[in-house]
Parts: sequence; C-alpha cells; structure tokens
Amino acid sequence: LAILLFYIGYMDRLTPGERSRLMSKIRSKDTKPELIVRRYLHAKGFRYRLHDKSLPGKPDLVFPKYQTVLFIHGCFWHGHKICRPNNTPKSNKSYWVNKLERNIIRDQQNVKALSEAGWRVFVIYECELSKTSAEMTLLRVSQQIVDKK
Ligand SMILES: [Zn+2]
Repeated sequence: LAILLFYIGYMDRLTPGERSRLMSKIRSKDTKPELIVRRYLHAKGFRYRLHDKSLPGKPDLVFPKYQTVLFIHGCFWHGHKICRPNNTPKSNKSYWVNKLERNIIRDQQNVKALSEAGWRVFVIYECELSKTSAEMTLLRVSQQIVDKK
C-alpha cells in the first residue's frame, strides 16, 4: 500500500510531458487485459505466437492455424469511441488529439494490410474485459477464431 500511495503521489507531481512518457512505458506488453485473454485461450487449447514483429501492427496474439490475429487494445490509446466518447485529456489538447488520431489511423492501416495479406483480424478492447463482460467477450472471440467463414 505504501508503494501504491507513493506512486500515486509521484504521478500527480509530474508535468504532462513526463506523465505521458511514463504512461507509454506502462502501456507496454504483457498488460493485464492481455494476460486475461492469453490465459483463457491457452486453457482452451489455443496456441499462438506473441507480438509478431513480422506482421503489420505487431499483433498481440497470432493464431497461425486459423490465419487469425488478435489485438487487445487499451481504450484510451486506441480511442475506443464506445466507452470513451470524450477521450481527449483537457490539458495539452491539440497534442493529444493529434496523437490519438494518429493511433486510430495506424490501427486502421494495420487492419487493412493484414486483411489484404489474408489474415482475419479481431480486436478486443480492454473495457470488454471488465469483471462483468470478460466471460462473454472471451467466449465470443474463442468462437470467432475457430469459425471458418
Ligand atoms: Zn472501451
């Protein structure tokens, strides 16, 4: 607890630039939402590669057997409109609008490139992995992966 309180106090004292650098470090691989998905699918017998650098957007999970990739997106960084209609932080607004807009455009380009290369692309947003939604989401995605259409 002491460490957590220290951490919160520390975040508050940072300038917006420092805070955004720290936040992008936190946003690295093996985030919790991704672990929830990996554990579930692995237990269901799915086998996958992680963070495949050779594919556009470095998909979080790659299922070669199903020619399918799965992204697990943080709602803030990937501008999830459903749960975050007003996504932009109030301070440094133009910086964030630009940055988040670029993220969304890059996501779309990655999906297009992957589809053109014959991959099926699924995305899970972190809000779909909340306590109340996780089970439904994981069941749906595990069916989508094996569903050959
Ligand atoms: Zn969301």
